[in-house]
Amino acid sequence: MNIILFGAPGVGKGTQAKILSHIYHIPHISTGDILREAIKEQTPLGIKAKQFMDRGNLVPDDVMIGMIKDILQTDRCKNGFIFDGFPRTVEQAQSLHPIFKELHIHVKKVINIEVDEKEIVDRLGQRLVCKGCGKIYNSEMDHFNIGDKCFKCGGELYQRNDDRAETVKKRLQVYRKETEPVKKYYEDLGLLHNVNGVGEIEEITQRLFTALKD
Ligand code: AMP
Repeated sequence: MNIILFGAPGVGKGTQAKILSHIYHIPHISTGDILREAIKEQTPLGIKAKQFMDRGNLVPDDVMIGMIKDILQTDRCKNGFIFDGFPRTVEQAQSLHPIFKELHIHVKKVINIEVDEKEIVDRLGQRLVCKGCGKIYNSEMDHFNIGDKCFKCGGELYQRNDDRAETVKKRLQVYRKETEPVKKYYEDLGLLHNVNGVGEIEEITQRLFTALKD
């Protein structure tokens, strides 16, 4: 199964992708996580990407398209994948077409998770991430603070640089301008399915199952 999870930053793509990845036994391909790992390792990709990410901008299309093509050609993706955070521009979406064709990959559904902007701003401001396993927490709902330990792996919880208020504003502007048109692109292709992203995590997973089964 090949799934593209689409939506603004903070709608819960990462949380849901981790759950679906576990259930369907297919890898969760988060371009944001891959870039953050590259930054940690200080690879040439990481050094380049950091300048864009810290300001809330997108990493250039040519870098991202090359990266995703390399990943799709690995054995990891041979039984399918869940994309989280790609494509993020119409150019990226268009570039997938010949790559999928060449690699005989079929994507039947693009799931758009919808949450209103006020809730997104609150969620991102409250988001904490485990340095060890990447588990996502909400400081308000889960009663965790920066520096606390992840209950799953004991890793330290931190706030992403780009989840600070001023960068969140910029990311949402970038989303509206560059990423939102991708929705129309997939709608026109008849691939887009909207899912309400407000509610309990389990409830949203159920909605995703329904959308994927239909
Ligand atoms: P995310 O973890 O998906 O919110 O991504 C964090 C940041 O990584 C984004 O704000 C971008 O700077 C960068 N990024 C992730 N995926 C892409 C992509 N497909 N195209 C361009 N930049 C990306």
